[in-house]
Amino acid sequence: ALVKIRRALISVSDKSCLIDVGKALEDLGVEILSTGGSAQKLRENGIKVTDISEFSGFPEILGGRVKTLHPAIHGGILMRRDVETDKEEAKTYQIHEIDLVIANLYPFEEVCMESDLSQCIEKIDIGGTVLIRAAAKNHRWVTVVSDINQYPELLSELSEFDGCTRLEFRRKLAARAFARCASYDAVIAERFFEETHENELPPIFTVTATLQQELRYGENPHQKAAFYMNTFQKRRLPGVAFAEQIQGKELSYNNIADTDAAFQLVCEFEEPAVAIIKHSNPCGAAVGVSAEDAYLKALSCDSLSAFGGIVACNRTIDLAAAEAITKIFTEVLIAPDATTEALSVLSSKKNLRVLLTGSLMNMRDSMPTFRSVNGGILYQTSDNGHIGKDDLQVVTKRIPTQAELEDLLFAWRVCKHVKSNAIVLAKNKVTVGVGAGQMSRVDASHIAIWKATEAAKATDEAQSRAVGSVLASDAFFPFEDGLVIACEAGVQAVIQPGGSKRDEEVIAAADRYGIAMVFTGMRHFRH
Ligand code: 5GP
Repeated sequence: ALVKIRRALISVSDKSCLIDVGKALEDLGVEILSTGGSAQKLRENGIKVTDISEFSGFPEILGGRVKTLHPAIHGGILMRRDVETDKEEAKTYQIHEIDLVIANLYPFEEVCMESDLSQCIEKIDIGGTVLIRAAAKNHRWVTVVSDINQYPELLSELSEFDGCTRLEFRRKLAARAFARCASYDAVIAERFFEETHENELPPIFTVTATLQQELRYGENPHQKAAFYMNTFQKRRLPGVAFAEQIQGKELSYNNIADTDAAFQLVCEFEEPAVAIIKHSNPCGAAVGVSAEDAYLKALSCDSLSAFGGIVACNRTIDLAAAEAITKIFTEVLIAPDATTEALSVLSSKKNLRVLLTGSLMNMRDSMPTFRSVNGGILYQTSDNGHIGKDDLQVVTKRIPTQAELEDLLFAWRVCKHVKSNAIVLAKNKVTVGVGAGQMSRVDASHIAIWKATEAAKATDEAQSRAVGSVLASDAFFPFEDGLVIACEAGVQAVIQPGGSKRDEEVIAAADRYGIAMVFTGMRHFRH
């Protein structure tokens, strides 16, 4: 199954390392055919090339739209070397075998977001994908290189097998070639759907991502894992995927998931905000007057759980913040930026991974999100719901004070980032108790209150932090019970979507305790 490479066709948009590969092929005595720009570059560097138009007997036309789309070329790639009729036809039509195709495509991915559709269309490679597909289909005899990072493998194969390639090698490259064409077309499809189907769902799910990093393991050590980065440039949102890692070990699977959750949470806030995440839920979140202030407040919520957490901040990390953060063990710190002094302090913690995103995410953007279920993919737009003061409906006799209103909105925004059933208690824009991921809302209430009480005990405070706090609930109270235990614990104001059959009963309970309650009309389930 060894095939000798005698004739190669080179047509590349990305011309880096082209000379090296051209020289190596020339040294092996390979005849090189090439298209306009690629031929010119090879020739300028003293490599002997045959123009593709000379080989096919047909010029490159339509401003480059048709360069290699010709039977002489595709016949040369697709002919079966062991089929008599193919051989006869090749003779009749003067078709000569092409054994190696090196092509990479116009960089559609790079331009697709910057320009209008008609400009993008010019960057849709037609002939290149056809070359790649044809060579991959006929990999029994033809070798296909569809990316510049495959050059070293090609050259080492050729040198090891005396100018030949093995079938298994060709098959591996064919698989990558088909994947390249598929991902290329998927990005084009995404771009077109965006243009034509503003609010409609694409009938086929075509999002593609390229392997960015192999991970040591998944959620657990016996699970294989990797991180794939979205290929569609528009999805290059500031966040964990495109952040620059300044220091620390490689991110793990769980790190990436939690860092994403942490950064999204702090991007909800205009004021300096910090979130500390453990197992995708915040064990503390706060806004403050500075990054340091917000961090210390977030830490105060549950400093025990914060150990080994993921810290996100929506401000540049300065010296004071860096000094505070490095006092306890933290797995990851993510922020838009950090000062030089801060970086120097952070660098003393070798294991701390530091990620800088450059900017913040716009949480009002509606982005596609997906998760896998057995045999399929669940798609939804991101939860970009936003509630402001004007959206709130006061349903109790007591109206919340200005300070309570601010705390309510703070708690509400944090609550959006807590797994359901979620109850968040907050005071002075600091979480004081978080009840996350419970099967009943009553249990979530119990846990939030219990956390608030325990935190107070740990620092010898006179009373539970639940006293005088506000409460956010990600969905309505189906019964009064979850609310009543919060009122008994001293909660003063509540924010929740409303909309339960028993709203009347729940409102009556709130009035009975003399607390203020507002409805948002919007739910923030997070599963
Ligand atoms: P060059 O710079 O060599 O003139 O062009 C190389 C690029 O042209 C490569 O990206 C290759 O995929 C693409 N290409 C090759 N043949 C054709 C063709 O027939 N039509 C189009 N549109 N692109 C082609």
